[in-house]
Amino acid sequence: MTPPAFSLLLATSNRGKLAELTALLADLPIEVVSLAQALPGRDQAVEDGATLEDNARIKARAGAAAAVMVTIGEDSGLEVDALGGRPGVRSARFAKEGATDAENNAALLAALDDVDDDQRAARFRTVMILIDPWAEGEPKELVFEGKCEGTIARAPSGTGGFGYDPLFLVTAAGRTMAELSADEKNQLSHRAQAFAALRPALHDLVFRRIAQAAHVAGGR
Ligand code: IMP
Repeated sequence: MTPPAFSLLLATSNRGKLAELTALLADLPIEVVSLAQALPGRDQAVEDGATLEDNARIKARAGAAAAVMVTIGEDSGLEVDALGGRPGVRSARFAKEGATDAENNAALLAALDDVDDDQRAARFRTVMILIDPWAEGEPKELVFEGKCEGTIARAPSGTGGFGYDPLFLVTAAGRTMAELSADEKNQLSHRAQAFAALRPALHDLVFRRIAQAAHVAGGR
């Protein structure tokens, strides 16, 4: 097997996301590096933006500046129509600051207790930002988005994934996100959609850099 030729920083410490993105990139000559690997012991950027895009940008810029690497910053959230789009950017701390997934899921069920089945529409949304610190001519930052439509179930079901997955009934699959295999989630998820949009730009960037490196190696 050809060894990975290009290291890409995924500016997250979420292991679930790292595993997902690594799988989505498996066919490209890219090694995905986490924040913990690239910058051990360093504090994470404070995600205090007002929108998913703000937070994705905060993470991407902080990672790219500290590691000096091509970086993807990503922020995702759950938007529930009956809650006016909440928890949205506050998805990780819906129940309280530092909440566990179980606490957030319980808070979501409680908030929707009186909401009828046909009013429980929701979506996962992802914003991804690709930063190339060495871009010349092209924009340094590119923004991509992905969505996955569903409804919020009345009880958790399934053991896969993370976060709100056991409560999120994926419209396109008729099962909760936690009942999908990792491969199925990687075809349908909001991150997969965002990544599909980002992929051509990343592909071009990586092969451009590999060609430049080959040029240097050739001594020309
Ligand atoms: P983050 O700020 O992008 O890491 O994500 C915020 C929160 O959104 C997470 O803590 C989860 O609760 C939720 N979330 C994001 N993506 C997913 C997913 O794929 N499944 C379930 N929950 C998710």
